[in-house]
Amino acid sequence: MRADAPAPAEVGRPLTAAAQLRLACELSTWAGEAGRCGWCNKPLASARRTAWCSDRCRRAFARNHTWTLARANARRRARYACSRPGCAAGRRELEVNHIDPRNGGGYGESCAHHADNLEVLCHAHHVEVTNAQRRHRGGAAEQPPLRR
Ligand SMILES: [Zn+2]
Ligand SMILES: [Zn+2]
Ligand SMILES: [Zn+2]
Repeated sequence: MRADAPAPAEVGRPLTAAAQLRLACELSTWAGEAGRCGWCNKPLASARRTAWCSDRCRRAFARNHTWTLARANARRRARYACSRPGCAAGRRELEVNHIDPRNGGGYGESCAHHADNLEVLCHAHHVEVTNAQRRHRGGAAEQPPLRR
């Protein structure tokens, strides 16, 4: 495919759900054009059917959208410590909180798992944050945070 091929929308080809996610993602610079990397928008060198120009771009997307990878990345970035100042909770007590809450949005591949929407908290601080979010929403019944 030519690097300047028209965007899929222009030729009427429906985008897959995965492509729609990349297109809507504010971290990805992909503009929906076929033959370009779904993360950095560089023309793809390989004729192989792939969305990524490199392993680096594939991994960059994955650690901001795939929950298990995003969670591991958040813990690593936080140096395995609760983000509340002075909290001395141990590594085993750590959980990862969505700053903009999921509200039942699930843990599928999503822009909700962007690194800047995740913070590492100990279980006690996670419960505190979740309770505050619940009060903020008007006290609707909500699951306590899972131990993740
Ligand atoms: Zn790329
Ligand atoms: Zn995204
Ligand atoms: Zn804590």
